[in-house]
Amino acid sequence: MEIEQSCPPVIRLVWVDKGWARTYIARDKASGKEFVIVRPKVFVTRRIPSPGIEMLSKRCDVTVYDGAQALAREDLLKSIRDKDGLVCIPEDRIDREVLDAAPSLKAICTYSVGYDHIDVGEATKRGIFIGYTPGVLTDATADLAFALLIATARRISEGDRYVRAGKWQGHFDPMLMIGESVWEATLGIVGFGRIGRAVATRAGGFRMKVLYYDPDRLVAEEPWRGSEYRDLDDLLGASDFVSIHVPYSRQTHHLIGERELKLMKPTAMLINTSRGSVIDESALVEALKADRLAGAGLDVYEREPLDINSPLLRMENVILAPHIGSATRTTRMKMAELTARNLLAALRGDAPIHWLNPDAAKVRALSAAKML
Ligand code: NAD
Repeated sequence: MEIEQSCPPVIRLVWVDKGWARTYIARDKASGKEFVIVRPKVFVTRRIPSPGIEMLSKRCDVTVYDGAQALAREDLLKSIRDKDGLVCIPEDRIDREVLDAAPSLKAICTYSVGYDHIDVGEATKRGIFIGYTPGVLTDATADLAFALLIATARRISEGDRYVRAGKWQGHFDPMLMIGESVWEATLGIVGFGRIGRAVATRAGGFRMKVLYYDPDRLVAEEPWRGSEYRDLDDLLGASDFVSIHVPYSRQTHHLIGERELKLMKPTAMLINTSRGSVIDESALVEALKADRLAGAGLDVYEREPLDINSPLLRMENVILAPHIGSATRTTRMKMAELTARNLLAALRGDAPIHWLNPDAAKVRALSAAKML
């Protein structure tokens, strides 16, 4: 059915679920019949790029947290109280306490592919649909992983600091800033999903030998021929670069710890664009200090933002990015649009385009979430 809003819109209050909701009158274009539409209440925990908020605002009453600092926990709990939909980002912990504070919540859509910040099991039990953004950020994140890999290998940040500090004296010093070759080196990819495979594709252009580890070996429809499956220990021992692309979960917590770092070559470099806690950061610092590892390129950390006292900040052979894996203009626009489409679909009683927990429909049928 194609609908159009009456003009001027007629606003009415109706009792929905457990509270009053603003409604407006719409008209079915074909039949001309008028009917009442609820405007769901949506909370967005951080401003996201166009066209996300605009798309939501056409159909919902949207409140956006616009502060420069992270949203305080008590403000999240307060803001969510009467909301039907939530748009969140990875730094928001959406746990049982938040769900308890939001009795009307029907859908949560995260502006990310990672969903380790959401208690998926608890939301599913309550019939709350979860949408997320796989795919649209794969290439941007793979690009960043590869950028970190090259920058770490070729000491690009260190060279930049050196030039800016006025330390560059001779024209060409045969011994200056000697790094490692990327061309034809061996790359070990841990987690051979969307982003891991996109990194393998990039490695093909550098004639790298690609090894991968993924417990779900069925994912091995290799996009770049020649990539070889290895178990994790073998991969770590054989690789010049190791790039991490697993989701964070109880199973992947500290997947790379002291033991695993000791298996790596002392000339090897570790790249992480997945989630910080997949690596035991203290063990990484110790390995770097002891020259058991040649360098690291990191976009994610155990605690974000990275503490200004972190020893990583004082290490020349570590490249640090502020969790910007998906941060390209087009990618962020696509993520915003997909997030809004996921939420609007759920509130309309359709399946979200990327729906993490279809089991939630066993608790609350999609039609029971229908508001638009
Ligand atoms: P995906 O689900 O397509 O791929 C993840 C792969 O990891 C899967 O094939 C899975 O089988 C594998 N895996 C799971 N447990 C594993 C283990 N113990 N060891 C090895 N492999 C394991 O996900 P994706 O789209 O490629 O994204 C991967 C992760 O990257 C996300 O979960 C997110 O946390 C992170 N990410 C970060 C940024 C950023 O800004 N830095 C951006 C996008 C995604």
